[in-house]
Amino acid sequence: MRVGVLGGGLQGCCVAIELANRGVDVTIFDKNEALLSRAAIANEGKIHLGYMYAGDPTLSTAKTMMVGALSFAPFLERHLALPAYSFSTSVPATYVVHRDSQHSVEEVSGYLETVHCMVNAATEGKSRAYFGTDLRAPLRTLTAAEREAEFDPEIALAAVSTPEVAINPTALALEIRKCIDDHPKIEVRRNSTVIGAEKETVSISVRIESPNGRQQSSFDHVVNALWDGRFALNETLGYRANRPWLHRLKYGVSFRLPSNAIPPPSSTFVSGPFGEVVTYRDGIVYLTWYPECLQAISADVTPPDWQTYPLEPLRSRIASGTLRALSEIVPTLRELNVESLPEITVKGGAIVAWGKTDIYDPNSELHCRFEIGVTSDERFHFVDPGKLTMAPYFAEICADRIRPVH
Ligand SMILES: Cc1cc2nc3c(=O)[nH]c(=O)nc-3n(C[C@H](O)[C@H](O)[C@H](O)COP(=O)(O)OP(=O)(O)OC[C@H]3O[C@@H](n4cnc5c(N)ncnc54)[C@H](O)[C@@H]3O)c2cc1C
Repeated sequence: MRVGVLGGGLQGCCVAIELANRGVDVTIFDKNEALLSRAAIANEGKIHLGYMYAGDPTLSTAKTMMVGALSFAPFLERHLALPAYSFSTSVPATYVVHRDSQHSVEEVSGYLETVHCMVNAATEGKSRAYFGTDLRAPLRTLTAAEREAEFDPEIALAAVSTPEVAINPTALALEIRKCIDDHPKIEVRRNSTVIGAEKETVSISVRIESPNGRQQSSFDHVVNALWDGRFALNETLGYRANRPWLHRLKYGVSFRLPSNAIPPPSSTFVSGPFGEVVTYRDGIVYLTWYPECLQAISADVTPPDWQTYPLEPLRSRIASGTLRALSEIVPTLRELNVESLPEITVKGGAIVAWGKTDIYDPNSELHCRFEIGVTSDERFHFVDPGKLTMAPYFAEICADRIRPVH
């Protein structure tokens, strides 16, 4: 059986690896020169256990995320033959309630406790599934003195330490690319823009534009994992979503912590348009602050071809604005000089989600992120990973649906 996987981000690569290791011949198409060159490497890699989503009182988002999170490291261990402890992960995140939060301290604290109970229940029988971390330890609210030592207490109304970590997406991309390059069952067609697909009697054909001109290839099954290109490709096969969506262009800033600097606490500011500090154990720090980093929104079928690495002067504006905003809350960041930070990189990409209004609106659908996953119509499958966290889990679901069709 031959399967065409459209898009070589984390979702497409996970589908390809899962299928190839089940004995299927896979061809990945990506418009870029390298795999994992868009949203997959532009994010902070938080492997969500659900603590972020106090804006979804049904808890459906939290439940969805924790299923994905508990599948993430096992998938990598299985397919990359790497033990969980060898992944470059972050210091666990402290959740901090911002004074302008859309939910009160009591609401957020209650939500975190509820989610943590659910995480514990979900971990039954797979206690080491989350990067080898023991998730059973209770959440801990920082004392006032501890909170004052780490954050500006006027802004940080409460702080709760959680076991949630992020995986360095650049390090992850290197491992995945290596696995794919070495895999005898996976062919990669780089610089190949997918422009359409058609159903044929016993196959699906895909139209591609590459430096060699237009080409067509037929497959037994096709998986659309194009992320921000997904809606456009689906339309060529007649599928149109019957609800509003938004593509949001969001950036983040990463750098190597100078050797004499104090590592900032990994912290996630909730609930609303705030941001995060992620301190990886390999010395990289990632910052994002929504008002500075959110640079564009599009409700079009195809969003503009947003740049992963913004040009000057936008690049410097995002870097200095983000560091300035987060320094107001995290005192250790005040010691850093944006002009001299080693390996400083501003990178970003599209976030695709159902919704009509931005997250400044407490009722925005963007606060609920559980309506994601794999949709299949015989030989054609499209995947909305929603989050990096979900990609390995949805890859397995997608692979389970790919069987010979008679
Ligand atoms: C700033 C930022 C922070 C984020 N933080 C987190 C986080 O902490 N945790 C989390 O779980 N998620 C996070 N996300 C979301 C996460 O990055 C995405 O959900 C996930 O990466 C999307 O799946 P993907 O990796 O397959 O997408 P992509 O990497 O965008 O892959 C899609 C691929 O398709 C290719 N492509 C697109 N159109 C075409 C076409 N027509 N023809 C050929 N190729 C095409 C692209 O080149 C690309 O390689 C964040 C996103 C951003 C932007």
